[in-house]
Amino acid sequence: MPLDIDRIRAQFPVLRRRVNDHPLVYLDSAATSQKPRAVLDAERAFLEHHNAAVHRGAHALAAEATELFEVSRERLARFLGATAEEIVWTAGATAALNLLAYSFSNASSGRGGAQAERFRLRPGDELVVTELEHHANLIPWQELAGRTGATLRHIGVDDAGRLRMDEAAGIIGERTRVLAFAHVSNVLGAINPVAELVALARRVGALVVLDACQSAPHLPLDVKALDVDFAVLSGHKMLGPLGIGVLYGRRELLDAMPPFLTGGSMITSVTMEHAEYLPSPARFEAGTQPVSQAIGLAAAVDFLDDLGMDRVHERDAELGQALATGLAAIPGIRLLGPAPGEPRVGLAGFIVDGVHSHDVGQFLDELGIAVRVGHHCAEPLHRRLGLAASTRASTSVYTTDADLAAFLDGVGRVRAFFRA
Ligand code: PMP
Repeated sequence: MPLDIDRIRAQFPVLRRRVNDHPLVYLDSAATSQKPRAVLDAERAFLEHHNAAVHRGAHALAAEATELFEVSRERLARFLGATAEEIVWTAGATAALNLLAYSFSNASSGRGGAQAERFRLRPGDELVVTELEHHANLIPWQELAGRTGATLRHIGVDDAGRLRMDEAAGIIGERTRVLAFAHVSNVLGAINPVAELVALARRVGALVVLDACQSAPHLPLDVKALDVDFAVLSGHKMLGPLGIGVLYGRRELLDAMPPFLTGGSMITSVTMEHAEYLPSPARFEAGTQPVSQAIGLAAAVDFLDDLGMDRVHERDAELGQALATGLAAIPGIRLLGPAPGEPRVGLAGFIVDGVHSHDVGQFLDELGIAVRVGHHCAEPLHRRLGLAASTRASTSVYTTDADLAAFLDGVGRVRAFFRA
């Protein structure tokens, strides 16, 4: 049975809003998705009935909060095909990627003992990313290279924005220690060839880091089947609260990895000179934790699983094709990324000939249509495609056919408006 979009929409209070005298058409879910009542209620119920700091305190509320927090971790683990010990809560995907990069540099400066060898980088070692990365999966690796003397290399894209897989085997070589790439491009909507890239990394023993921010809301994800070593997710893009994300890591790797943030809640004992750390995931969760957010994210994945990720994916592919076909049919529009008919998620970047993306965004906003404009934190990709900026429409489980029709109608009128 296909998804019942009207029933889904009824669960999202914000979608009843009007903007500039029009019903809101929210096509900026790739920046942040809207949140269903189940997520809002879960956070509120926690704050109203159980609010306490976790993993400390002898009182009833602290025990309840800890239980809810850990059950949420198990829930996320199940959603991703991992175990609870492999799920680290972070403030978001950016925080997760920085955690990883700083763990590597801590290992490289000799911290973490013998077991941290896998993470130790030396001059001559190479880190590989792609040219289409979000800045969050680029700059932390640039900085890591700067701190350790490792070299950062990248797999380029062709004129159509496709990864140059013909070059990849030459770039991922004996010196490669880390391969980090996006599962789905946040500008093009293209789904990258994970299996091929993982195979190239495995051949040379490099660690694989998957940025799953833009795939997790659209596709079923199984980190074991994908065979990646690490994966990062952003909770707020998958119907969950702001301020929460996940770092998945293979258990044996997390156990060997030195911490990044240090402080309370991550130690077994501390003297004035020295500290012993807890095993993962606690070792990577210093400080007071985002408990209501974790509980909210668990409610979000319950919501997605209740819909069924296979059905979410099916609907999403349909929306992606409708976006691509509709945009490609409008004169003066350049669709970025996969051509109509080629696989993509419900996300499309495009250019309106002769009109700056900021003007496109403003024109659409006047019609109550929310899209993203600019370089979407992927400046190198835009530069490669000869663009300063683009406009992006992105869908979610609550997107209707009428939303797309209003959007395509609006885009169809942009050029005429600015010419006049
Ligand atoms: N990677 C990708 C592909 C993204 O789209 C984003 C969010 N725009 C991020 C990383 C960073 O996520 P966050 O801002 O939630 O940390």
